[in-house]
Amino acid sequence: MRQAIKDLLILQAEDLRIRDLKTRFASIPGERAALVAEFDVVRKGLEKAKQDKLKVEQAAKQQAAATKSAQETLQALMIKSTSVKKINEYNAILAEIETAKKNISDSETREIELIDEQEAADKALVKAERSYKAVGRTVQAEVRELDALKAAIVKEIVEREKRSEELAKNVVPSYLESYRRLLARGKGSPVGPIRNGSCANCNLMNSPETILDAKNGKLVSCNNCSFLLYDPDAE
Ligand SMILES: [Zn+2]
Repeated sequence: MRQAIKDLLILQAEDLRIRDLKTRFASIPGERAALVAEFDVVRKGLEKAKQDKLKVEQAAKQQAAATKSAQETLQALMIKSTSVKKINEYNAILAEIETAKKNISDSETREIELIDEQEAADKALVKAERSYKAVGRTVQAEVRELDALKAAIVKEIVEREKRSEELAKNVVPSYLESYRRLLARGKGSPVGPIRNGSCANCNLMNSPETILDAKNGKLVSCNNCSFLLYDPDAE
């Protein structure tokens, strides 16, 4: 293979590495945002678990107060019942006493349910705290890694761009112009081998003249996609 083509391929290897690094670099903000979103889910989960616990605690307090109030109502009715003289008034108070007793019983039942609900809320909170800490640790470590990677990529790009500039000086100007135009498309390798007449980029068959030129060691343009081609078996 001619030295001029070898020089171009050396430059291309450098430039394609730079392109890969830039692609990787561009994907970092999205990855970072996904990590932050993942953490946000557990953070909100913890917030909700805390609120749920508060709610059920408040409900338990209110229920205890309701039981106490119902007990006081019963107490007052009992006292009142001792001073009632008329039978119909007495019967009415007895009915009220029954209602008060039922209210106390219902309220106490609800209090017991609320004890179970408090236990469940406590457990949920412990679980939420655990996953908040675990995910927090992981996310923090991964975000740190991404930030370090970003810095390393920037450094490598700067170094390789300098090297690319140096390598470009070795390349024949006419090659360089076509190469750079193709590289700027951002897809595929601007220079590739032609094999059995097929282009490495578009896979289509080239004309006999083009194939022959390549065989003679020339750098050719694909008849179809205009990407640069060389014959790896040329002298
Ligand atoms: Zn082609």
